[in-house]
Amino acid sequence: MKRAVVLMAAFCFIVAMGGIAFAADTLETAKKKGVLVAGVKDSTPGFGYVDEKTREIVGYDVDFVKAIAKKLGVKLELKPVTSASRMPQLVEGNIDIIAATMTKTAERAKQIDFSNTYFFTGQKFIVKKGTVRSLADLDGKRIGTAKGSTSEQNAKKALPKATILSFDDYPQALLALQQGKVFAVTTDESILANLLGKAPNKEQYEIPDIQISDEPYGLGMRKGDKNFVAFVNKTLLEMEKSGEAKRIFDKWFGPNSQTPLKRNFKITADK
Ligand code: GLU
Repeated sequence: MKRAVVLMAAFCFIVAMGGIAFAADTLETAKKKGVLVAGVKDSTPGFGYVDEKTREIVGYDVDFVKAIAKKLGVKLELKPVTSASRMPQLVEGNIDIIAATMTKTAERAKQIDFSNTYFFTGQKFIVKKGTVRSLADLDGKRIGTAKGSTSEQNAKKALPKATILSFDDYPQALLALQQGKVFAVTTDESILANLLGKAPNKEQYEIPDIQISDEPYGLGMRKGDKNFVAFVNKTLLEMEKSGEAKRIFDKWFGPNSQTPLKRNFKITADK
Protein backbone atom coordinates (compact mmCIF):
# COMPACT_ATOMS: atom_id res chain seq x y z
CA MET A 1 0.00 0.00 0.00
CA LYS A 2 2.73 2.37 1.08
CA ARG A 3 4.68 1.52 -2.06
CA ALA A 4 1.64 2.30 -4.23
CA VAL A 5 1.29 5.73 -2.61
CA VAL A 6 4.95 6.50 -3.19
CA LEU A 7 4.69 5.38 -6.80
CA MET A 8 1.55 7.45 -7.31
CA ALA A 9 3.23 10.53 -5.80
CA ALA A 10 6.28 10.03 -8.02
CA PHE A 11 4.02 9.68 -11.06
CA CYS A 12 2.15 12.91 -10.22
CA PHE A 13 5.46 14.73 -9.71
CA ILE A 14 6.77 13.63 -13.10
CA VAL A 15 3.52 14.65 -14.84
CA ALA A 16 3.61 18.04 -13.12
CA MET A 17 7.26 18.64 -14.06
CA GLY A 18 6.51 17.63 -17.64
CA GLY A 19 3.67 20.11 -17.67
CA ILE A 20 5.97 22.89 -16.52
CA ALA A 21 8.65 22.01 -19.03
CA PHE A 22 6.40 21.64 -22.05
CA ALA A 23 3.69 24.22 -21.56
CA ALA A 24 5.22 27.37 -20.15
CA ASP A 25 2.49 29.91 -19.55
CA THR A 26 4.43 32.98 -18.57
CA LEU A 27 1.34 35.17 -18.75
CA GLU A 28 -0.28 33.15 -15.93
CA THR A 29 2.84 32.59 -13.82
CA ALA A 30 3.96 36.23 -14.03
CA LYS A 31 0.50 37.39 -12.95
CA LYS A 32 0.47 34.92 -10.06
CA LYS A 33 3.96 35.90 -8.91
CA GLY A 34 3.36 39.59 -9.55
CA VAL A 35 6.67 39.93 -11.38
CA LEU A 36 8.05 39.63 -14.91
CA VAL A 37 11.77 38.86 -15.17
CA ALA A 38 13.45 40.37 -18.22
CA GLY A 39 16.95 39.60 -19.47
CA VAL A 40 18.56 42.83 -20.67
CA LYS A 41 22.05 43.97 -21.61
CA ASP A 42 23.85 46.12 -19.04
CA SER A 43 26.71 47.43 -21.16
CA THR A 44 25.11 48.25 -24.49
CA PRO A 45 24.66 52.04 -24.66
CA GLY A 46 21.25 53.13 -25.94
CA PHE A 47 19.62 49.72 -25.40
CA GLY A 48 20.57 48.43 -21.93
CA TYR A 49 23.29 50.05 -19.82
CA VAL A 50 23.86 51.30 -16.29
CA ASP A 51 22.95 54.96 -15.84
CA GLU A 52 25.90 56.63 -14.13
CA LYS A 53 23.73 58.74 -11.82
CA THR A 54 20.94 56.36 -10.80
CA ARG A 55 22.97 53.10 -11.14
CA GLU A 56 19.87 51.60 -12.77
CA ILE A 57 19.80 49.72 -16.07
CA VAL A 58 18.12 51.93 -18.68
CA GLY A 59 17.66 52.02 -22.46
CA TYR A 60 15.38 51.36 -25.41
CA ASP A 61 15.06 47.62 -24.61
CA VAL A 62 14.35 48.35 -20.94
CA ASP A 63 11.55 50.80 -21.82
CA PHE A 64 9.82 48.14 -23.94
CA VAL A 65 9.79 45.54 -21.17
CA LYS A 66 8.72 48.23 -18.70
CA ALA A 67 5.68 48.94 -20.88
CA ILE A 68 4.90 45.21 -21.15
CA ALA A 69 5.13 44.66 -17.36
CA LYS A 70 2.94 47.72 -16.79
CA LYS A 71 0.29 46.41 -19.20
CA LEU A 72 0.44 43.06 -17.42
CA GLY A 73 0.04 44.83 -14.07
CA VAL A 74 3.16 43.29 -12.53
CA LYS A 75 6.55 44.49 -11.28
CA LEU A 76 9.56 44.27 -13.59
CA GLU A 77 12.79 42.62 -12.53
CA LEU A 78 15.85 43.12 -14.75
CA LYS A 79 18.58 40.51 -15.02
CA PRO A 80 21.74 41.28 -17.02
CA VAL A 81 22.46 38.89 -19.89
CA THR A 82 25.13 38.76 -22.59
CA SER A 83 24.71 37.86 -26.25
CA ALA A 84 25.91 34.34 -25.44
CA SER A 85 23.92 33.79 -22.21
CA ARG A 86 20.51 35.19 -23.17
CA MET A 87 19.01 32.09 -24.84
CA PRO A 88 20.18 29.55 -22.21
CA GLN A 89 18.91 31.88 -19.44
CA LEU A 90 15.46 31.94 -21.05
CA VAL A 91 15.28 28.23 -21.81
CA GLU A 92 16.41 27.36 -18.25
CA GLY A 93 13.66 29.59 -16.83
CA ASN A 94 15.91 32.18 -15.14
CA ILE A 95 14.28 34.95 -17.17
CA ASP A 96 10.82 35.23 -18.79
CA ILE A 97 11.65 37.44 -21.77
CA ILE A 98 14.76 38.58 -23.63
CA ALA A 99 15.00 42.28 -24.50
CA ALA A 100 18.64 42.44 -25.49
CA THR A 101 19.37 43.77 -29.01
CA MET A 102 18.52 40.32 -30.27
CA THR A 103 18.11 39.65 -33.98
CA LYS A 104 15.37 37.32 -35.11
CA THR A 105 16.90 34.46 -37.09
CA ALA A 106 15.48 31.17 -38.35
CA GLU A 107 18.23 29.33 -36.45
CA ARG A 108 17.34 30.94 -33.12
CA ALA A 109 13.61 30.51 -33.82
CA LYS A 110 14.14 26.73 -33.59
CA GLN A 111 14.78 27.19 -29.86
CA ILE A 112 12.72 30.23 -28.86
CA ASP A 113 9.79 32.33 -30.10
CA PHE A 114 10.17 35.94 -31.19
CA SER A 115 7.80 38.91 -31.00
CA ASN A 116 7.01 41.24 -33.87
CA THR A 117 10.05 43.28 -34.89
CA TYR A 118 10.41 46.26 -32.51
CA PHE A 119 13.70 47.68 -33.89
CA PHE A 120 15.51 47.43 -37.18
CA THR A 121 19.17 48.01 -38.04
CA GLY A 122 22.06 46.46 -39.98
CA GLN A 123 25.61 45.30 -39.31
CA LYS A 124 28.51 47.71 -39.89
CA PHE A 125 32.05 48.41 -38.61
CA ILE A 126 33.91 50.97 -36.49
CA VAL A 127 37.39 51.66 -37.84
CA LYS A 128 40.14 54.28 -37.53
CA LYS A 129 39.24 57.20 -39.81
CA GLY A 130 40.37 56.84 -43.39
CA THR A 131 41.50 53.20 -43.16
CA VAL A 132 38.55 51.48 -44.88
CA ARG A 133 36.85 52.24 -48.19
CA SER A 134 35.38 48.85 -49.06
CA LEU A 135 34.77 45.44 -47.50
CA ALA A 136 38.01 44.19 -49.09
CA ASP A 137 39.97 46.56 -46.81
CA LEU A 138 38.70 44.55 -43.82
CA ASP A 139 39.47 41.05 -45.04
CA GLY A 140 42.54 39.41 -43.54
CA LYS A 141 42.37 41.79 -40.55
CA ARG A 142 41.62 41.18 -36.85
CA ILE A 143 38.01 42.11 -36.15
CA GLY A 144 36.43 42.38 -32.68
CA THR A 145 32.83 41.52 -31.84
CA ALA A 146 30.73 39.73 -29.16
CA LYS A 147 30.45 36.00 -28.47
CA GLY A 148 27.14 34.41 -29.42
CA SER A 149 26.07 37.25 -31.72
CA THR A 150 24.88 37.24 -35.31
CA SER A 151 27.66 39.80 -35.82
CA GLU A 152 30.23 37.07 -35.19
CA GLN A 153 28.62 34.73 -37.75
CA ASN A 154 27.97 37.40 -40.40
CA ALA A 155 31.56 38.67 -40.14
CA LYS A 156 32.97 35.17 -40.61
CA LYS A 157 30.90 34.78 -43.77
CA ALA A 158 31.56 38.24 -45.21
CA LEU A 159 35.29 38.24 -44.36
CA PRO A 160 36.54 34.65 -44.73
CA LYS A 161 40.20 35.64 -44.39
CA ALA A 162 39.74 37.82 -41.29
CA THR A 163 40.44 36.71 -37.72
CA ILE A 164 37.30 37.26 -35.67
CA LEU A 165 37.96 37.90 -31.97
CA SER A 166 34.87 37.49 -29.82
CA PHE A 167 34.54 39.32 -26.49
CA ASP A 168 31.82 39.07 -23.81
CA ASP A 169 30.44 42.46 -24.80
CA TYR A 170 30.96 45.32 -27.25
CA PRO A 171 32.69 47.82 -24.92
CA GLN A 172 35.47 45.24 -24.52
CA ALA A 173 35.74 44.96 -28.31
CA LEU A 174 35.93 48.75 -28.59
CA LEU A 175 38.66 48.85 -25.96
CA ALA A 176 40.65 46.34 -28.05
CA LEU A 177 40.27 48.68 -31.04
CA GLN A 178 41.47 51.66 -29.00
CA GLN A 179 44.44 49.61 -27.80
CA GLY A 180 45.31 48.64 -31.36
CA LYS A 181 44.60 44.95 -30.74
CA VAL A 182 41.95 44.76 -33.47
CA PHE A 183 41.58 46.66 -36.74
CA ALA A 184 37.79 47.07 -36.51
CA VAL A 185 34.77 46.37 -34.32
CA THR A 186 31.68 44.94 -35.94
CA THR A 187 28.05 44.66 -34.86
CA ASP A 188 24.72 46.42 -35.45
CA GLU A 189 25.05 50.04 -36.55
CA SER A 190 22.68 51.09 -33.76
CA ILE A 191 25.05 49.65 -31.15
CA LEU A 192 28.20 50.98 -32.85
CA ALA A 193 26.80 54.52 -33.07
CA ASN A 194 25.93 54.52 -29.37
CA LEU A 195 29.27 53.00 -28.38
CA LEU A 196 31.17 55.55 -30.38
CA GLY A 197 29.00 58.38 -29.04
CA LYS A 198 30.28 57.65 -25.53
CA ALA A 199 33.90 56.83 -26.44
CA PRO A 200 36.88 59.04 -25.61
CA ASN A 201 38.82 60.10 -28.77
CA LYS A 202 35.73 59.36 -30.83
CA GLU A 203 36.84 61.88 -33.47
CA GLN A 204 39.59 59.41 -34.48
CA TYR A 205 37.06 56.76 -35.53
CA GLU A 206 34.25 56.37 -38.04
CA ILE A 207 31.54 53.98 -39.20
CA PRO A 208 31.98 53.63 -43.00
CA ASP A 209 28.87 53.04 -45.09
CA ILE A 210 29.50 49.29 -45.48
CA GLN A 211 26.60 47.12 -44.35
CA ILE A 212 26.82 43.32 -44.36
CA SER A 213 23.38 42.31 -43.02
CA ASP A 214 19.87 43.33 -41.93
CA GLU A 215 19.17 42.93 -38.21
CA PRO A 216 15.52 42.97 -37.15
CA TYR A 217 15.23 42.82 -33.32
CA GLY A 218 12.59 40.70 -31.57
CA LEU A 219 11.76 40.08 -27.93
CA GLY A 220 12.59 36.46 -27.13
CA MET A 221 10.15 34.16 -25.32
CA ARG A 222 10.04 30.45 -24.52
CA LYS A 223 9.07 28.20 -27.39
CA GLY A 224 5.33 27.49 -27.40
CA ASP A 225 4.56 30.14 -24.74
CA LYS A 226 1.55 31.07 -26.90
CA ASN A 227 -0.54 33.28 -24.62
CA PHE A 228 2.45 35.34 -23.59
CA VAL A 229 3.69 35.76 -27.18
CA ALA A 230 0.19 36.90 -28.23
CA PHE A 231 0.02 39.33 -25.29
CA VAL A 232 3.44 40.81 -26.07
CA ASN A 233 2.65 41.18 -29.78
CA LYS A 234 -0.67 42.85 -29.01
CA THR A 235 1.06 45.25 -26.60
CA LEU A 236 3.72 46.12 -29.21
CA LEU A 237 1.04 46.89 -31.84
CA GLU A 238 -0.84 49.05 -29.34
CA MET A 239 2.38 50.89 -28.51
CA GLU A 240 2.94 51.61 -32.20
CA LYS A 241 -0.63 52.83 -32.64
CA SER A 242 -0.60 55.09 -29.57
CA GLY A 243 2.76 56.62 -30.51
CA GLU A 244 4.45 55.21 -27.39
CA ALA A 245 6.86 53.08 -29.46
CA LYS A 246 7.97 56.14 -31.42
CA ARG A 247 8.29 58.19 -28.22
CA ILE A 248 10.63 55.53 -26.81
CA PHE A 249 12.64 55.58 -30.06
CA ASP A 250 12.89 59.38 -29.97
CA LYS A 251 13.87 59.37 -26.29
CA TRP A 252 16.97 57.27 -27.09
CA PHE A 253 17.68 57.90 -30.78
CA GLY A 254 15.63 60.95 -31.82
CA PRO A 255 17.03 64.20 -33.24
CA ASN A 256 17.67 65.61 -29.75
CA SER A 257 19.33 62.48 -28.41
CA GLN A 258 23.07 61.90 -28.10
CA THR A 259 22.99 59.45 -31.00
CA PRO A 260 20.35 60.37 -33.60
CA LEU A 261 19.27 57.42 -35.77
CA LYS A 262 16.64 57.03 -38.50
CA ARG A 263 13.44 55.19 -37.55
CA ASN A 264 13.27 53.22 -40.78
CA PHE A 265 10.60 50.79 -39.52
CA LYS A 266 7.16 50.57 -37.96
CA ILE A 267 6.01 47.80 -35.63
CA THR A 268 3.63 45.58 -37.59
CA ALA A 269 2.29 42.06 -37.14
CA ASP A 270 4.65 39.40 -38.50
CA LYS A 271 3.33 37.58 -41.52
N1 GLU B 1 21.67 41.88 -33.01
C1 GLU B 1 22.79 41.00 -33.04
C2 GLU B 1 22.51 39.69 -32.34
O1 GLU B 1 21.42 39.43 -31.96
C3 GLU B 1 24.04 41.64 -32.48
C4 GLU B 1 23.87 42.35 -31.18
C5 GLU B 1 24.00 41.45 -29.98
O2 GLU B 1 25.01 40.75 -29.85
O3 GLU B 1 23.09 41.46 -29.15
O4 GLU B 1 23.33 38.84 -32.17
